[in-house]
Amino acid sequence: MNRWQIGDVKITRVLESENAFDMTMLIPDATPEAIRAEDWLRPNFADEKGGAKLSIHALALQSQGRRIIVDTCVGNDKRRPGFDTMNMLNTNFLSDLTAAGFARESVNLVLCTHLHLDHVGWNTMFVDGRWIPTFPNARYLMSRAEWEFWGPSKDPAIGDSVRPVFDAGLVDLVETNHRITDEIWLEPTVGHTPGHVSVRISSKGQEAVISGDLMHHPIQLGHPEWKCTFDADPDQGCRTRRAFMERYADQPVLVFGTHFASPSAGHIIKKDGAFRFRI
Ligand SMILES: [Zn+2]
Repeated sequence: MNRWQIGDVKITRVLESENAFDMTMLIPDATPEAIRAEDWLRPNFADEKGGAKLSIHALALQSQGRRIIVDTCVGNDKRRPGFDTMNMLNTNFLSDLTAAGFARESVNLVLCTHLHLDHVGWNTMFVDGRWIPTFPNARYLMSRAEWEFWGPSKDPAIGDSVRPVFDAGLVDLVETNHRITDEIWLEPTVGHTPGHVSVRISSKGQEAVISGDLMHHPIQLGHPEWKCTFDADPDQGCRTRRAFMERYADQPVLVFGTHFASPSAGHIIKKDGAFRFRI
């Protein structure tokens, strides 16, 4: 578990999993040779052989009395055929979340940056043969555009992790620039999905941003033009990624990569025209 403080906002990272990952599944250009060529990625984000590491974690935010979980990972007991490292998990995530000070009943807001299976999983848990909301006292925020895209789909994650919270009356659909507290608001960063958002944090002159999946691994800072297989609109995904990097490079803004391996937070810098991630 890692903790940060941005002004009055407390940020706690709760890890679900951190694994070696074949990046070519996500980004065909991110071969081991290409990763090995970027020596600045070692040792946190890559190894000597060009292997890459990705993390799946939730960020718990405390701001002005709100207790907010950003992205709810893969979840336990979810059938995810075709995704070996995410199928039928049985992790300690929920007890780790409790140990970090976020018992599930104490959470009053859940925010999904988008509705992919690794961002909605702990929205629900399997109890007595059905999926029930994990956070019964929370409002679940999702962007309206995101729901309009995914609502009609037969995606299993929508069925077991999103519809049940709708059925329980816990969802608030919001615009992609929605303000959550005086210190936290959403920024539209579409491309990976049609209603994808990043999360901005600003308090007492300190600044941070949670990327969401507009990028998955720091190597993309070296190659923002590389297309991501899972982007709904790959060209828009590239434009959004580059714009995000330009906006936050060389700024006093702590950047949280939603899948960046530990410690998952750092600064974007631009050197000789190329972006890098500095922890
Ligand atoms: Zn993801």
